[in-house]
Amino acid sequence: MSVQRNSRVLLLNATYEPLCFVSLNRAIVLVLKEKAEIIEQAGDLDFRRTVRAEKTVLPFPSVIRLVSYVRLPYRASIPLTRRTLLARDNHTCQYCGSSDRNLTLDHVLPRSRGGRTEWTNIVAACGPCNRKKGNKLTGEARMWPRTTPTRPAFSSIVLLGQARDNAIWQRYIRMNPAAA
Ligand SMILES: [Zn+2]
Repeated sequence: MSVQRNSRVLLLNATYEPLCFVSLNRAIVLVLKEKAEIIEQAGDLDFRRTVRAEKTVLPFPSVIRLVSYVRLPYRASIPLTRRTLLARDNHTCQYCGSSDRNLTLDHVLPRSRGGRTEWTNIVAACGPCNRKKGNKLTGEARMWPRTTPTRPAFSSIVLLGQARDNAIWQRYIRMNPAAA
């Protein structure tokens, strides 16, 4: 097979839950053995690219899905840090939707009112939104997060970090935030 060895393919479980990235070679083997099916081909630039393997011509895969469900072992929960939280919130202010570089972390229920530092009470916020909300409750400020903050799955955060600049991969990873 003459393909770029550094090409990566997103592997989904049978349930469409994202599992990990695999090499292109590994992906092709899974498809040829009929253990996985191609869900998405590579992006526009590569649209006409194909992979020749074992007398077969396959579309160039970008996302593949296992035919049979694989049960996953227990995985540790993800630590709450600025980096992981911004990844969960797609580097976007959860109040106004802006994606500026200097995002802050906002306690939805302010610390001064008993709010805790935990996944379900912190969202990414731009400076102006954070100042505007200040120590107010969401109802008082009339500012509500666009997405209810939740604890992300370990695999989602790790995979999102590896899927930047690839909208298709991000879509499959975000589609299943409660996975793992
Ligand atoms: Zn904002």
